Amino acid sequence: MSPLNLSRRHWLGASAGLLSAAAWPLWAQAPAASAKGARVVIIGGGVGGATAAKYLKMFDPSLQVTVVEKNRTYIRPYGSSEVLNQHSSMDELNVSYDTLASRYGVNFVFDTVTGFDPQARTISTAGKQTLAYDRLIVSPGIQLMYDAYAGYSEQVANTAVPSGWIPGAQTALLAKQLQGMRQGGTFVMAAPPNPYRCPPGPYERPALMTEWFMKHNPTAKVIIVDPKDSFVTDETMMLGWNRLYNFNLPDDYVKKMQSQVEIKQHANPGMLSWVRGKDGGRTLKIDAKAMTIEIEAEVIKADVINVVPPAKAGQIAMTLGLADKSGWCPVDRRNFASTLQPNVHVIGDASIADAMPKSGFSANNQAKVVARAIIDELAGRPAPEPLWENTCYALAGKDYGLFVADVFKVVEGKIARVNGKSRYLPLNASPAQIKLGARYQQAWLRTFTQDCFA
Ligand SMILES: Cc1cc2nc3c(=O)[nH]c(=O)nc-3n(C[C@H](O)[C@H](O)[C@H](O)COP(=O)(O)OP(=O)(O)OC[C@H]3O[C@@H](n4cnc5c(N)ncnc54)[C@H](O)[C@@H]3O)c2cc1C
Repeated sequence: MSPLNLSRRHWLGASAGLLSAAAWPLWAQAPAASAKGARVVIIGGGVGGATAAKYLKMFDPSLQVTVVEKNRTYIRPYGSSEVLNQHSSMDELNVSYDTLASRYGVNFVFDTVTGFDPQARTISTAGKQTLAYDRLIVSPGIQLMYDAYAGYSEQVANTAVPSGWIPGAQTALLAKQLQGMRQGGTFVMAAPPNPYRCPPGPYERPALMTEWFMKHNPTAKVIIVDPKDSFVTDETMMLGWNRLYNFNLPDDYVKKMQSQVEIKQHANPGMLSWVRGKDGGRTLKIDAKAMTIEIEAEVIKADVINVVPPAKAGQIAMTLGLADKSGWCPVDRRNFASTLQPNVHVIGDASIADAMPKSGFSANNQAKVVARAIIDELAGRPAPEPLWENTCYALAGKDYGLFVADVFKVVEGKIARVNGKSRYLPLNASPAQIKLGARYQQAWLRTFTQDCFA
């Protein structure tokens, strides 16, 4: 039994019947000592898990915090599209766990979690280890549903038509294919249905490649095929494409935006195009041998295809019974406690967080709120009302930055956006503001990694 359980149960047993709750002295309601040495195990050392581990130890160094992670080095997904346009290298995506261990005293077990016993409060691993916990945090990220499209599979993704939405060898393969694409070749980017990780990501990637192709392969074509009719940051992103790549916005966007900003109609449109859901952009089939992608409107012959398939919570969330029929994990929004299993909190991409996007920024914010909630709960204090933020920076080009920035609160049991309309880079932003946006994006990559892992 954990020190926490011993002290709390012992105390409760001794005092029950003697005092009514209302008469408990203040010190007894906040027995900070009872949290001492409590064991928190975290599954997944990505953005959510690493941040939770760091902040738990910062808030209470006496906690025993153990991260169980499959891989010895984290490959960060955010910023990974910049490997494709040679702005970054695969090595630069690697993040070490050394500082979390040495500076904060976080324990690491490099193993794959395979199951748990919620009554005994233990998890088990592929390496036959058993770890006991008082509280469990699960931040396993996503799994990609490769089989959502006819002809597509993980094996096809590993060898011919990469996704790279979970970065790794597929990212390196995609970089090689794009940089080696024949002159005048066609790159098709298949965007995912909602919900997916990193809302502007599937649009930033083809934008960066368009910029790269304009230098290295000026007769190339870039086609985004999409099951959706809109996306977060669509107006500012497409305005960037209009200015940088002679992209013609769909008429309905022009009508919506032209009172605020000049939108050029290019007689000779550039290499980038976007086929929306309403125009038949939904992906149906991939043929890796013929190198074709079938969408509702047509079959496109391509040279390189990048697919972001639909996603659901990481497999271990399913195995532990933390996900519902939607494929994601329902939680009490105030503290991300699982509504399906006791003493477990699910954070990051795997959780159902309503208006909060599946982003690293969100996972990091959720981790801090959960760390605080666990500390308070272990100490017998109510946790404060949470408030979260998210900012997703994105690039329409190397020097063309934009963003979406939001604040969230719990409203009637759900997480709702509480800021007003000014979520985006203004459409009439000056060239200097736009350039500054790109610098912010680069600075964020560095400071954010530091906040999570160092
Ligand atoms: C191209 C791209 C660009 C992006 N850009 C941005 C951006 O600009 N801003 C932003 O905020 N977000 C961005 N994101 C999204 C961001 O990377 C994710 O939202 C974030 O990583 C989610 O954190 P997480 O902790 O939920 O999952 P992850 O960071 O994926 O971590 C999950 C961890 O769990 C481990 N794991 C899983 N199962 C097990 C198991 N059974 N046992 C042990 N370990 C396990 C995995 O190995 C992994 O390390 C981007 C994503 C992509 C793909």
